[in-house]
Amino acid sequence: MAVHWVLICHGLVTLTVVVSFLCGQWPIFQGTPISSIHRFITFGAYQYFLKFVGAVFGDKGTNLILSVEYYCCDRPNPILQIIYLAIIGTIYCIIAKTSFSYIPGYYLSGIHRYASMLAVGIGILLFILTSFSDPGTVKAENVSQYLSAYPYDNIIYTEKECSTCKLPKPARSKHCSICNRCVARFDHHCGWMNNCIGERNTRYFLAFLLWHFLLCVYGTIAIGLVLAGQLKELRVIYILTVYYGVDNSFGSLAPYIVQWLLGSYNTQILLMVFMAIVSLLLAGFFVYHANLCLTNTTTNETFKWQDYISWRKKLSEARASTAALKASISGVNGEGKPPESKCRSFFRRSPLEDTEAVIKNNVVHQPMFFIRIYMKEVVV
Ligand SMILES: [Zn+2]
Ligand SMILES: [Zn+2]
Repeated sequence: MAVHWVLICHGLVTLTVVVSFLCGQWPIFQGTPISSIHRFITFGAYQYFLKFVGAVFGDKGTNLILSVEYYCCDRPNPILQIIYLAIIGTIYCIIAKTSFSYIPGYYLSGIHRYASMLAVGIGILLFILTSFSDPGTVKAENVSQYLSAYPYDNIIYTEKECSTCKLPKPARSKHCSICNRCVARFDHHCGWMNNCIGERNTRYFLAFLLWHFLLCVYGTIAIGLVLAGQLKELRVIYILTVYYGVDNSFGSLAPYIVQWLLGSYNTQILLMVFMAIVSLLLAGFFVYHANLCLTNTTTNETFKWQDYISWRKKLSEARASTAALKASISGVNGEGKPPESKCRSFFRRSPLEDTEAVIKNNVVHQPMFFIRIYMKEVVV
């Protein structure tokens, strides 16, 4: 009984940590322990660690940690590429060692031994293509092509020169401070690829996400079928019902089967859980980036859009306080308009909501559109 409680507590703690790490920054969790745990995992723990190193080893220790952080986070480096290759290689080897002896099995034919190798090979090929392909580096030889492909709108993208590259900056491009180059239709710098994702390699990046999602789903299902095949071949249900007298129903058999699987095939169960979680994360990333491609925008421009939303909110608050101030002054002077009825004010839509509704329908040109509105505000 005590073991059950330990397992339940372990599950709850793991779930809380995973949810806090992945979703702690969502507005719904603001002010809750989930957001505090998220802050601690993503930022606080590192700050405490720095303080601890400073207290024990002094400035030299802190500077060493900061220089490691600079190399890992602000300079191009292959650390995450090596970790990716280590993860995919290790998982494939563990699956081959623990599960290939059951293939061909009751539900899986022998072809899956080779199909899985081919699937992993294609995944690594897509990784290499994304990592080592040119993301669309703006150079003296091709800058005129990018300038004509992405014309300036003179609102958000104005004609200017990159202060580092000393080249004209095409619209929708960005200077990557890690790679130290301007990239056309810049999306983001990907640490896993040690490369920027831009105009020329977004297609490989999307294919990488989709293929690895499918790879994880394939691995999860294949191992599931291996275990189901073992269950059938070893006649576990027959033994349980005939020799142990367990009732032949799902509710009665399930605990015994789960216990048998966890005892005999714990590695495979662990791999299935890991691949299922990773497949969900990859599906989320793929849907996010596919949506960006369909709406012809980029991660870089999405962040600008969020900045705009917060700017609009601040502007709306400033306007409301100005209006309230005006109303109070005219109230003092006795020249104010009659106050709006409660019923009318309840049903009146805010002008901001109307504007946002229009903007959201113009997702293709989001950045241009919000800057146009910004310019209008400034002129007014
Ligand atoms: Zn540049
Ligand atoms: Zn970069």
